[in-house]
Amino acid sequence: MTPAAFSVIRGGRLLDSADLDGATGDILIEADTIREIGPAGLRAPEGAIVIDATDQLLMPGLVNAHTHGDVSMAKGMGDRLSLELLLNASPLTSEGLRLEDKYLAAKLAATEMVLSGCTACYDLFSEFPMPSPEGLAAVGQGYADVGMRAVVAPLMADRNFWQAIPGLLDALPPALRSEVDRAAAEPAETAISACRQALKDWAIDRDQVRLALAPTIPHHCEPSFFRACRELADEFGAALHTHVAESKVQAVVGLRKFGKTLTAHLDELGVIGPDFTAAHAVWVDEDDIRRLADRGASVAHNPTSNLRLGAGVAPVKAMLDAGLNVGVGTDASTCGDALNMFEAMRLSNYLSRIHTPDPGDWIDAKGALSMATQGSARALGFGSLIGALQPGYKADIVFLDLRRIQYVPFNHAARQVVYQETGSGVSHVMIGGNFVVRDGRIQTIDYGKLRDEVARANERMRAQAVGSERLVRQLEGIVGQFCVALAQEPYHVHRYVGMPPIQ
Ligand SMILES: [Zn+2]
Repeated sequence: MTPAAFSVIRGGRLLDSADLDGATGDILIEADTIREIGPAGLRAPEGAIVIDATDQLLMPGLVNAHTHGDVSMAKGMGDRLSLELLLNASPLTSEGLRLEDKYLAAKLAATEMVLSGCTACYDLFSEFPMPSPEGLAAVGQGYADVGMRAVVAPLMADRNFWQAIPGLLDALPPALRSEVDRAAAEPAETAISACRQALKDWAIDRDQVRLALAPTIPHHCEPSFFRACRELADEFGAALHTHVAESKVQAVVGLRKFGKTLTAHLDELGVIGPDFTAAHAVWVDEDDIRRLADRGASVAHNPTSNLRLGAGVAPVKAMLDAGLNVGVGTDASTCGDALNMFEAMRLSNYLSRIHTPDPGDWIDAKGALSMATQGSARALGFGSLIGALQPGYKADIVFLDLRRIQYVPFNHAARQVVYQETGSGVSHVMIGGNFVVRDGRIQTIDYGKLRDEVARANERMRAQAVGSERLVRQLEGIVGQFCVALAQEPYHVHRYVGMPPIQ
């Protein structure tokens, strides 16, 4: 769909994380880009399409800095799971996908996100046992067909979860151990060459969907594998994204294995730079924060997921104070649940309040809005394209219905959006000048057909997963106990700055 040459949105209230505070104004759009923003009555070229935004609040599309589209069909599949138990359950949630399921999973995730006002995401998509050029192309096509922007980063590792935690294999009975070893990760070279091919063959407009690389978790990857990812990223100008110190188990394992924090380890490998995103970064110390800030890296803060998995609370205010860029993500449907960026944005604000009793050090509404738009956009490498309502930026605009109860009465745009909006007020979503959502309905795909296709694929995959279910349940108790013991180890070596104040 090609957007009309010019369109002008008239009569809406305008909000972004910079100067726009909810006053009425007009937006002139040429093709996919915002050309001018001005007071009511802004001049527009003859023939421009006029879009009436009376009773609408216009804001930049929210940007999801961290999610995993491969598990979008695994909603509601786990309850009291820590990160480690969730990883233990991965054979159930992300291993049965055929090529057409990967396309469908990405399309489902994209649809869920745009319906709640998110216009771009960083999707760390996992293909089992390893990434493939055709799989990545299918995932990219899923996003392109919905009309959403995305950075698709294949998750990769050269050892699996059970092999990555020192001592865990020895804790397993021999029969289980050999089953787990059979599920060994593929050699690093195979994954790297698949990604190289995908980067070479990429056919989708890179301003819409582009590729990055996601070596999954530092201790799941040999140092040589991390370096190979860095080299490949540099060769193609692609970004890097990895999970860093998400849980205390990871932090303890990192110290044991590398004799230093995971961030220090990655820094020593030379992989941290301005195109590097550290997901979660819950268990980091002041030196880690400084390292990431000094290298110009970004953090993808996932407050919903960190709470759901009991991982902890990332010290986001300390990161911002150090000049570190922070974006907000939902994480996956298995842990961030609703892929709802309004919810993640609100929690990113609320959680800043448990670190200190001094309200002057809490994140305010505009601060949270800034992280969930500009901060995330920068993490995606889309920093100069999206995340703001400004001339020269893409016309990725969310229309919120001011007749909804959360805006009655209308007092303060940023606060009512950050503290009260759930996504239920999203009326239209424009991406690159096209309406992807109108009156709360997805325009670019057939929603009924998507539902039917997802139901069929899900049924087939659930039936296939019976064998894995048995293995996962057998491992669960042992993995759970082992990891609880690790998480109970004292963590005095480095000062964890995310700890809530204890009186
Ligand atoms: Zn993740």
